[in-house]
Amino acid sequence: MSFRRKLFFGRDPYSREGGELFLAAMRETLEKNAAGSDKYAEILKREGFSPEMLKTEADLANIPPIPTLYFKRNRLFCVPESKLMIRAASSGTSGSTSEVGFDLSTLLIGFGTLRRFFRFHRITSIIPTNYIVLGYEPAKHNRAGAVKTAHLTTKFAPALRREYALKDNGAGYDINIEGIRKALLGYAKSPFPVRFVGFPAYMYFLLKTLEKEGISLALPARSAVLLGGGWKEFSGQSVDRAELLELIEARLGIKKERCFEFFSAVEHPLAYLKCACGHFHIPAYSRVIIRDAETLEPLPEGEAGLLNFITPLVSSMPLCSVITDDIAMMSAEPCPCGNTAPYFDLLARSGVSGIKTCAAEAGERLVDS
Ligand SMILES: [Zn+2]
Repeated sequence: MSFRRKLFFGRDPYSREGGELFLAAMRETLEKNAAGSDKYAEILKREGFSPEMLKTEADLANIPPIPTLYFKRNRLFCVPESKLMIRAASSGTSGSTSEVGFDLSTLLIGFGTLRRFFRFHRITSIIPTNYIVLGYEPAKHNRAGAVKTAHLTTKFAPALRREYALKDNGAGYDINIEGIRKALLGYAKSPFPVRFVGFPAYMYFLLKTLEKEGISLALPARSAVLLGGGWKEFSGQSVDRAELLELIEARLGIKKERCFEFFSAVEHPLAYLKCACGHFHIPAYSRVIIRDAETLEPLPEGEAGLLNFITPLVSSMPLCSVITDDIAMMSAEPCPCGNTAPYFDLLARSGVSGIKTCAAEAGERLVDS
């Protein structure tokens, strides 16, 4: 079994016992990436880095980090394109999207890891569930990663029905507020749990609509809210997390323990779950370095900078160390939630001007309607 497989198939996603295994898996994937792409091998050489130089955790900072912006301008695959089983585009307005592609081994490990992660957090359920997808309906003309993620998230409890906030009309999308409202009132009469999946901005908009109409539902036990994409992106409107959780309980009868907020990126396809204290704990199969936005030097705990993810997951692209345009901070303080794994706080998504995230775009679409 490869080191990579061994690392990702561990039982406890937050275990910190496998430090050596993590490094071995990193060397393995880096070697594979470099062997599969002359361009990437050249980048490593130019930066004076080779995989065998990775001996301690501190050395991880020396892997040349590639900004996600790079993938918006360059295609960089480490396997023949015929080996890419799935392709997805990152969030962003057209023209600034990056295309990623994953081969079979990346997909199998990634999906298995996600399944174990969801099970660990008791999100997986065998009870048939009605879904409200607060995002785009999957369509042939839309290859955004966010669409695939939302759809994937409806696979962790068997779907009875899915209603989408943005319905495919063959060429684009129609806003489906009325459909959502109708579906929700119907779901409320059924004994099956309801799951809301998608952008927080849409969730907020829906809750505000229910509030305006004086609708309060008591959805069946085991109902849940699964959100991803940041809270403060409703076209500049600041959505407060505590307010959103209160609204969810008041309007839908879903307690905050059943509200899950995820973080993920197309260029770093792993899930992070916000804990009860509002932090994203880092699983055993990834590391986070915060870097100065200008010098890209690693920053100490307590200082805000660009979020750099490190993981050996992806064999089809050189995504071992990617810098997103999100602003985050690490902390040395132990988290009161009890999870002893290190964590980061997301301070802002997409700090670079001119780049819009999917959620921001979706928020705008909603306002324009
Ligand atoms: Zn915590």
